[in-house]
Amino acid sequence: MADDHVRCTYNDIHKLIAKASERIQSEFKPDVIIAIGGGGFFPARVMRTFLKDPATKRNIPIQAIGLSLYESLPGTTEEQLGQTVLRTQWLGPSKALLGRRALIVDEVDDSRTTLHYAVTELQKDVETELLALPEAERDAARTQFAVFVVHNKLKPKAHDLPKGIPYYTGAEVDDVWLDYPWEMKDIDDHDRKAAMAK
Ligand code: 5GP
Repeated sequence: MADDHVRCTYNDIHKLIAKASERIQSEFKPDVIIAIGGGGFFPARVMRTFLKDPATKRNIPIQAIGLSLYESLPGTTEEQLGQTVLRTQWLGPSKALLGRRALIVDEVDDSRTTLHYAVTELQKDVETELLALPEAERDAARTQFAVFVVHNKLKPKAHDLPKGIPYYTGAEVDDVWLDYPWEMKDIDDHDRKAAMAK
């Protein structure tokens, strides 16, 4: 059945991540990835492949957080719709982030509500952890954050990201509904429809 969804294949996404990783590695050099689940998990894992240090052959760690917009949860009130983000999973003590360069990864930036929440809450956690350090050591230990999304929808956003956060995308797209391969039960049908659309 025809619909107006735009279908992305695993290969499409892999190549967008490969391309974006060149800039991310030369400009930001992350040493940890924070995947926003569930949509950020596959992209984060692929990104790690391209960020692997060829000299040390060392993989950078992936940490996971789970976030859900209230609108996708049952029992949501009218006021909560699209406004509030629910943590379904969060990091352990964020000391693991102090002094690091953390790349936050999600599949798509739609209204930006989720990304804004992730960045500002992680920054708050870091500031709390910094209080345990002597004042002179805090600036050096403050976590640097950057964001990568496979797709950014070109549309008015509900929030801006905090200033100074590098922002990387695989592709800029119109305000369309994107179907990701990991959401599909019939991957052959998905790939066939994606190929026909091309
Ligand atoms: P936000 O509005 O907070 O930027 O987007 C939150 C989440 O909504 C995304 O992480 C994603 O899970 C979901 N979402 C938004 N737009 C799309 C889309 O076009 N396709 C799919 N599959 N999920 C989307």
